[in-house]
Amino acid sequence: MKDGKIIVLSAPSGSGKTTLVKHLLNKNSKLVFSISATSRTPRKNEINGKDYHFLKKESFIEAIRRKSFIEYEEVYEGIYYGTLKSELFKIWENKKIAVFDIDVEGGLNIKSQFTKNTLSIFIKPPSLSILKDRLLKRKTDSKKNVEIRISKAQKEIDQENKFDHIIVNDDISIAKLELDKIVDDFILKK
Ligand code: 5GP
Repeated sequence: MKDGKIIVLSAPSGSGKTTLVKHLLNKNSKLVFSISATSRTPRKNEINGKDYHFLKKESFIEAIRRKSFIEYEEVYEGIYYGTLKSELFKIWENKKIAVFDIDVEGGLNIKSQFTKNTLSIFIKPPSLSILKDRLLKRKTDSKKNVEIRISKAQKEIDQENKFDHIIVNDDISIAKLELDKIVDDFILKK
């Protein structure tokens, strides 16, 4: 089966995208998280095969060579992220809807490959300064990495109009309600 549905949530890092993805997955058992592969090292609490498939850089590059990815990207210098074909097809074979938590380039790439069966949603932070505060409070990245993520965020926000929907994540409860409505409509759509 190669024509199931896909829901893509893309956003600058720190926009609350992961919280919204978890909310969706808890609400609806038809939705299954598409676990990306990455060459970055796991953070504390991250589990291999649950949060990501953590691969050595050489293994990631080998998988690129074997054309195992639907899309992949060097999201940060020297750090690769991508969606394995096997991951998406497994979800569709189980007659589920794949939920992607991927960056803007990756999200738009998926939308262009699976235009009709993909719902693409851009999660927008209320402002770049609020985003920076959130990233600093999260303490998972060094100050330098926060600066890198902020400069990437501006470029990502410039692409927001290419998505089917934009949700501004100012108040998380309101964002969840908006998301539920958009997703429910998409699931019901033939
Ligand atoms: P993080 O290191 O914070 O987990 O993720 C960094 C960025 O990579 C996030 O914007 C995340 O959405 C994105 N990302 C995660 N998986 C993929 C993927 O499979 N493909 C692409 N293009 N980006 C991904």
